[in-house]
Amino acid sequence: MNNFSYTQAKTAKEATGLRQGAPQAAYIAGGTTLLDLMKANLEEHSQLVDINLLPFKGIEQTSDGLRIGAMERMSDVGEHPLVLQQYPAVSESLLLAASPQLRNMASIGGNILQRTRCGYFRDAAFPCNKRVPGSGCPALEGDNHNLAILGTSSACIATAYPGDLSVALAALDAVLTLENAKGKQRRVPVTEFYVLPGKAPQRETVLEPGELIVSVTIPAAAHARRSTYLKVRERASYAYALVSAAVGLDVQGGTIRSARVALGGVGTKPWRSPEAEKVLTGAPATEVTFRAAAAAALRGAQPRADNRFKVELAQNTLVQALLAVSA
Ligand SMILES: Cc1cc2nc3c(=O)[nH]c(=O)nc-3n(C[C@H](O)[C@H](O)[C@H](O)COP(=O)(O)OP(=O)(O)OC[C@H]3O[C@@H](n4cnc5c(N)ncnc54)[C@H](O)[C@@H]3O)c2cc1C
Ligand code: SF4
Repeated sequence: MNNFSYTQAKTAKEATGLRQGAPQAAYIAGGTTLLDLMKANLEEHSQLVDINLLPFKGIEQTSDGLRIGAMERMSDVGEHPLVLQQYPAVSESLLLAASPQLRNMASIGGNILQRTRCGYFRDAAFPCNKRVPGSGCPALEGDNHNLAILGTSSACIATAYPGDLSVALAALDAVLTLENAKGKQRRVPVTEFYVLPGKAPQRETVLEPGELIVSVTIPAAAHARRSTYLKVRERASYAYALVSAAVGLDVQGGTIRSARVALGGVGTKPWRSPEAEKVLTGAPATEVTFRAAAAAALRGAQPRADNRFKVELAQNTLVQALLAVSA
C-alpha cells in the first residue's frame, strides 16, 4: 500500500477543490471498500479526501419521492420506517448485504461505487482489461462462475457492480443527484449511471473525475410499495449475490397494472429488464405469466463454461420474487 495524505473536507466545494488539485486523490466515506482496494495495490491514491462531514444527509419525503443523502449509512437507510413501508425492495437489498458491522460503517454513495469481485481483477498478479486497459481478460476462458451473462463484451464479463442496493434502485426508477467542482448539479437515472464494458471496461459509470454523489431519489409508486428483493448466494450471510431479483408489481383485480424488474449478479451492470416488464404489464398475475417474463428477461444471455447455471437460477429467482409480491 502506498503512502497517502488525509484531509477532512467540510463542504462539497472544499472536497471537489481538493480533488481537482490532485488527480490521484480519492474521496473516502466509510472506507470499507476503498481501503481494501488500496491494501491489495489495486488502486493507488496519493491523497484521501474524507467526505463524512459533508451535509449529504437525511432520509425524507419530497415532491419527487424519497430523497436519501449519499452519506447516510446502509443500516440507517435499510431500517428507516419510510424505506421499510414504501420501498421494501430497497430495505431488503440493504439489510441482506455484507454484515451488520459493514452496514453501520458503509455509506450509500460508497455502496453505489463499489467495484467488481472478479477474482482476476482482485489479484494484481493477473492481467485484467478493467485494471490495466489492453492487458487481456483471463476470465473469458478461466473461472467465471460468479461473472455476468448479460451485457458482456469480448473485453470484460465482470458484474462491475456486485452489490445489492443498485439493483433495487434500478428497478424502482431511482435518480442520482451529482455535483461537480463548479457546484453544478445534474440528475442521472441509476439505469443510465452504470455503463456497459464494451471495449473500455475501465470506465464503469458516467461519474466525471471529482464529481460527488449527493443523494438518491426514489419516486413513490404503487409498485414500489409492493416490491421485494430476493438474493441467492453461496452461503446464508456475508456473501455477494450469485443472482438476485428486485421486483415491484401493482396488481388490481388479478391484473398487473405496472411492473418493475431488475436482476443482480447476471449483468455487467444492474440489469433492468424492460422485456420482462412488457410481458407482465396488462397480464394476469399468475405463475404462467411470471415464467414467460423470466424467459424474456434471460433471452439474450450469453453464458460461459462455469456460469451456465445462472440462466435457470436467475429465471427461478425472478419467478419466486414475482410470486412473493403477487401473493
Ligand atoms: C466482506 C465484504 C462483504 C460485502 N458484501 C456486500 C454485499 O453482500 N452486498 C453489497 O451490496 N455490498 C457488499 N459489500 C460492499 C459494501 O457494501 C461496500 O464496501 C460499502 O457500501 C462501501 O461504502 P463506503 O462508504 O465504505 O465506501 P468507501 O470505501 O469509502 O468508498 C468507495 C468508493 O466510492 C467513492 N465514494 C464514496 N462516497 C462517494 C460520494 N458520495 N461521491 C463520490 N464518490 C464517493 C470512494 O471514492 C471510493 O471510490 C461488502 C464489502 C465487504 C468488505
Ligand atoms: S472479467 Fe473484467 S474484471 Fe474480470 S479479468 Fe476480465 S476484464 Fe478483468
